[in-house]
Amino acid sequence: MSRIVVIGAGQAGASLVARLRKSGHAGPITLIGAEPVLPYQRPPLSKKYLLGQMPAEALLLRPAAFYAANDITVKLGTPVHEIDPVARRIRLGDAVLAYDQLALTTGSTARRLPSALGGDLAGVHSVRSLADVDAMAHDFARAQRVLVVGGGYVGLEAAAVAAARGQAVTLLEMAPRILQRVACVETSDYFRALHGANGVDIREGVGLAGLTGDDRVRGAELTDGTRLAVDMVIVGIGIDPDTRLAQTAGLMIDNGIATDAFGATSQPGIWAAGDCASFPHQGGRIRLESVQNAVDQAECVADNMLGAARAYAPQPWFWSDQYDLKLQIAGLGAGHRHIVVRGADQGPRSHWYFGDQGLLAVDAMNDPRSFMLARRLLQSGLPVDPQLVADPAADLRNLLAQTA
Ligand SMILES: Cc1cc2nc3c(=O)[nH]c(=O)nc-3n(C[C@H](O)[C@H](O)[C@H](O)COP(=O)(O)OP(=O)(O)OC[C@H]3O[C@@H](n4cnc5c(N)ncnc54)[C@H](O)[C@@H]3O)c2cc1C
Repeated sequence: MSRIVVIGAGQAGASLVARLRKSGHAGPITLIGAEPVLPYQRPPLSKKYLLGQMPAEALLLRPAAFYAANDITVKLGTPVHEIDPVARRIRLGDAVLAYDQLALTTGSTARRLPSALGGDLAGVHSVRSLADVDAMAHDFARAQRVLVVGGGYVGLEAAAVAAARGQAVTLLEMAPRILQRVACVETSDYFRALHGANGVDIREGVGLAGLTGDDRVRGAELTDGTRLAVDMVIVGIGIDPDTRLAQTAGLMIDNGIATDAFGATSQPGIWAAGDCASFPHQGGRIRLESVQNAVDQAECVADNMLGAARAYAPQPWFWSDQYDLKLQIAGLGAGHRHIVVRGADQGPRSHWYFGDQGLLAVDAMNDPRSFMLARRLLQSGLPVDPQLVADPAADLRNLLAQTA
């Protein structure tokens, strides 16, 4: 019976092993994780969990009983250091484990501030793992002045939590605007205004020259010469795919562990999914950092490990919670040529991204209807007329009537 080993007990790893059993794989399944906790959801780490409104147990994707009931061996607190792809063995500590098929779901690591900028000072924190957030709880409870470095979704969510707790928050974004890498100008403008209204001091086009302090961080010097007194720093400057293990095993790396459309890596019998994997997309390669991708790609890989030969066709969606605002994103807006805005400054609102090929993506702010509609339109591939979208009186549900 085929022995399947999955390295990386996060969102993708948990989805992959569950799918294998659900699909009838009868052989041994082993899920190995470096963290000492069962697979858990990361999104609340910068939202409700950080705010203290969610217990740690509620983060778990599945209880321990699920893995026991499905005869899935879970080894936690066990980083894998070596794969021998020829002998089909992995080494964990002093032990060796043989596999017939192996999946890598090793996720990503948070970029750290360099030591030269004060990144090693006490009071400087990342938000990637449960341990990271637990380690910042003491500082977070006492800090009055919080500096957030990085204006992506994680940085903005952490800023929203700190502001909601009554802390004075400054957020630095080196690029000319927050969310520049992932969103249109209109969405950046919207979130800048939202944070401004909640008292967050957003500084764009300004970098960190260095943090100051002896035993712990006390201040920050910005590239424009400004000096700030700070009690703690939250760093949200992006992630890097965790390719260390794959690299030492000689797998092809290209902005992540390179896979084909089926999730197979350059080594026979080894697959990859989730944040760590890059895959073919529209003539190039893409790597997605989202729950949707981790789950859907892992399930696709599980199917293919069992012989399905199903190409992964992502239907990307994402969300972010800041204050009482829920942002939901359908599609990928990269390469858009123009934006159509629906809705007013207050209340439900959506930003529609159009490119040469038509509708690419929609950002929906407290507007779940537009989000659901956008997902269906993107899935259907139906043409969407930007002029119709721009008409506030138009009922966009009629666009879907073409499929009826
Ligand atoms: C603070 C935060 C907020 C987020 N918010 C959202 C959101 O609102 N919406 C959304 O869609 N996405 C969000 N994401 C992104 C989403 O959580 C990730 O895309 C998703 O967790 C990726 O799943 P994964 O399984 O690929 O990686 P992970 O969940 O990171 O799991 C990878 C696991 O592999 C382990 N590992 C790595 N190397 C080894 C090794 N050699 N041996 C053993 N184990 C190893 C790691 O320790 C880790 O536990 C957020 C992420 C963070 C950090």
